Amino acid sequence: MLKVVNPATETVIRELPTDTPESIRAHFERAKAAQPAWAARPLAERIEILTRFRDKIIQHTDTLANQLSSEMGKPRKQSLNEIRALPDRIDFFLQHTEATLRPQDVSFRTDPNTPPATQEMISYEPLGVIANISAWNYPYFVGSNVFVPALLTGNAVLYKPSEYTPLTGLSIAQLLHESGVPSDIFVTILGTGTAGSALTALPIHGVFFTGSHATGVKIAQSVASRLIKVQLELGGKDPTYVCDDADAKSAAIGLADGAFYNAGQSCCSVERIYVHQDNYDAFVAAFVEEVQSFKVGDPMKEDTYIGPLARKEQLDVLDAQVQDALQKGARLLLGGHRLQGTGYYYAPTVLVDVDHSMDVMREESFGPIIGIQKVHDDQEAISKMNDTAYGLTAGVYTPDAQRAKSILSHLNAGSAYWNCCDRVSPRLPWTGRQHSGIGSTLSHLGILAFVQPKAWHLRSPA
Ligand code: NAD
Repeated sequence: MLKVVNPATETVIRELPTDTPESIRAHFERAKAAQPAWAARPLAERIEILTRFRDKIIQHTDTLANQLSSEMGKPRKQSLNEIRALPDRIDFFLQHTEATLRPQDVSFRTDPNTPPATQEMISYEPLGVIANISAWNYPYFVGSNVFVPALLTGNAVLYKPSEYTPLTGLSIAQLLHESGVPSDIFVTILGTGTAGSALTALPIHGVFFTGSHATGVKIAQSVASRLIKVQLELGGKDPTYVCDDADAKSAAIGLADGAFYNAGQSCCSVERIYVHQDNYDAFVAAFVEEVQSFKVGDPMKEDTYIGPLARKEQLDVLDAQVQDALQKGARLLLGGHRLQGTGYYYAPTVLVDVDHSMDVMREESFGPIIGIQKVHDDQEAISKMNDTAYGLTAGVYTPDAQRAKSILSHLNAGSAYWNCCDRVSPRLPWTGRQHSGIGSTLSHLGILAFVQPKAWHLRSPA
């Protein structure tokens, strides 16, 4: 049984039966049998079904937000933000799938009025049955980035929600089924990593994973010999540089939100801040003031900005990062400890005098903690920002567009932010480099990710 624990109260809110290797195989066999008929339906029908799903999400926003907050501790307001932003993401896929999948005639013609000797066409076919193994931190976003385009393009989806958000996973399945997605085409697999590895052991046609680098590597290794499509959206250690000409106050407000929203449990949370020496004192003062204004507490309360962590184990990781930093010479300006009492709470933590010998500047923290480092010039900032195993996002704060673009062009990251951070757009590819992953979701690339091209060479008999 899977115990669903509310991280704010530490009480068990539900116990759910988990899948076994046998039940997962049976789900796979049924999905494989059902998928060709789903793919054969006109795209317009699948669009209609996913439109109904979109509408149901809007209709049930409040209940879904309460459920999400109670199982993973996200402040209710932030759960509402996630769910309210979902229709915009779904709309992108509803509006762009048809054009992205339209077969293309790319024949070579010497003269536009003469038919080509050989007609050359590109069309797209679904992958088949795919595994969607998901994380808990933004289960609506990271799940829908995969299952919405996967379903629209005619695939069957074996969806494994995180063991920390199984209730949200079940709600998503229920709403998809009520909207008209056949029960064998979208199937929820419940369980921990054991269920995930039983799923990837099956002859699936693709695996789309969101989670940690360590698990991503395990999954890539486990399917390597089968040469199936693998996409991995992994962690980050995302840096931002505040230039000497940036407005310290507004940069501090933006970056404090980028670092502490969802208790820092975002793949693209700001995890490292570098500040030009001429702006350092002003920035640090404004940053600390902003973080002090964040209300920590019950996620169900309207004014709570920082709730508990979703996972108790992460408290030890944060403690260890703080101790490591302090031993190596860092200074604590705020927090640095867990909160007494019930719930997995960690005090918002700001460390300065940090450097790259410290774990807090190298390893993903995934919690309400940030290191701020002084740099002398843009060159040093660029080299520090690129000194990482990850490569998800990177940003710069400056009023100077040219300076920003020049700095951002030198950063080895999938997303580049100017005067913003912790931002995802359905119109842009979401893509990590190095240990942050491979492949892209969202944008037209996040539609093409779920199909395989077919190249047609068509020659009429002479
Ligand atoms: P995790 O790696 O612990 O688990 C992710 C999923 O993988 C869960 O469903 C889990 O049950 C499953 N799993 C675990 N072991 C498995 C195995 N051997 N085989 C198959 N499946 C297995 O990650 P998490 O704690 O759920 O998520 C946090 C991580 O996800 C952070 O590193 C975060 O940065 C990252 N993340 C990345 C993105 C992105 O878009 N790049 C988005 C959200 C989260």
